[in-house]
Amino acid sequence: MSKIILKKRREESLLRFHPWVFSGAIAQTVGNPAEGDVVSVYSADGQFLAAGHYQVGSIAVRVLSFETEVLGPDFWDVMLARAYAVREAAGLADAPDTDCYRLVHGEGDSLPGLIIDYYQGVCVFQAHSVGMFRAKKAICEALCRLYGDRLKAVYDKSSGTAPFKAGLDLVDGYLYRAPGFESKELTVLEHGHKFIVDWTEGQKTGFFLDQRENRALVGKYAAGRNVLNLFCYTGGFSVYALAEGAQHVDSVDSSAKAMSLVDRNVALNGFADRHGSFCADAIEFLRGVPEGKYDLMIVDPPAFAKHRGALDNALRAYQRLNAAAIGKVAPGGLVFTFSCSQVVDKEAFALAVFSAAAQTKRNVRILDRLNQPADHSVSIYHPEGEYLKGLLLYVE
Ligand code: SAH
Repeated sequence: MSKIILKKRREESLLRFHPWVFSGAIAQTVGNPAEGDVVSVYSADGQFLAAGHYQVGSIAVRVLSFETEVLGPDFWDVMLARAYAVREAAGLADAPDTDCYRLVHGEGDSLPGLIIDYYQGVCVFQAHSVGMFRAKKAICEALCRLYGDRLKAVYDKSSGTAPFKAGLDLVDGYLYRAPGFESKELTVLEHGHKFIVDWTEGQKTGFFLDQRENRALVGKYAAGRNVLNLFCYTGGFSVYALAEGAQHVDSVDSSAKAMSLVDRNVALNGFADRHGSFCADAIEFLRGVPEGKYDLMIVDPPAFAKHRGALDNALRAYQRLNAAAIGKVAPGGLVFTFSCSQVVDKEAFALAVFSAAAQTKRNVRILDRLNQPADHSVSIYHPEGEYLKGLLLYVE
């Protein structure tokens, strides 16, 4: 096995269980590791620190174990069982009214580079590292053992997430399909609401599982309100609001595919008579909204900043968007506003929303601070894993 020897005093973050080794911390590479190989990491004075996947790039090693140099043959079984135990503890595995959840959330489950979402027996696998991509067969076999008869399929959807520079054969497709399982979509349940999930054609793994609890919160506030759901994707927030007695909901997304799924989801749950669909740019749409028309708005845009360099522009974009929403919402109205950019932290986001509120000169209270749910787990040693943040605002 190849060895990575760190520069002097560069072992500290690993001793605090942070799961990345940056290339700048490396003094010497012994052996000739291929991308995706498991390598062991040593301090300058020869102490074993960790073993993990090697990759060319700024993050050179993603740690899989701080205990052992050689990962045992049951490594994937053990790690998936640990991840499953967390979902059980959170009441998600085998819940009567929810049959979809994130099983593996990268660093949050001590498996950097790996995402697995579970949809009623279909696991969607996304490798974000070469090591995880190369391990996909072994991980699929461990999923078969974990779920047994419940497993319908494992679908590899790494073509948009695995590092393309590594020259991998990035073609999405099934790693496993139970005999007779041919479906291309499923109707899953989330808190008892029905949603169609299309894992091959949909965005990300097919559904935004990370908004489950925030959708339930929108439901709590929705009765009797006129709701605008901006950046609605497949209409998660819309269905919850309608189910809890919203007077009317308008949903807006720029993706035509998403909007056709919104219509199907709203109809599936029996609410088509109180719903309007708009395939449009959310900011343009908001511009045309008369002041006071809506008294509950959801603003859940895609990540405006995908890397640090884009941070300033992203903060300005959050400010503009939130000023438009806060400015238009009816007196006594609510705005649920989110950011899923990892590089925009809670404080920076709150500051952007604060500036937006000040721009409108309206009196705004923060009723709640919103987060990602338990199955999008955050390792205490890797706070960067906290990416979804939001505020519930009351606007006078
Ligand atoms: N709220 C959704 C997830 C939102 S993801 C849910 O609960 O599932 C962000 C969405 O914004 C995507 O569906 C994307 O198609 C849409 N989008 C991106 N840019 C947009 C724009 N300028 N106007 C409207 N929608 C946009």
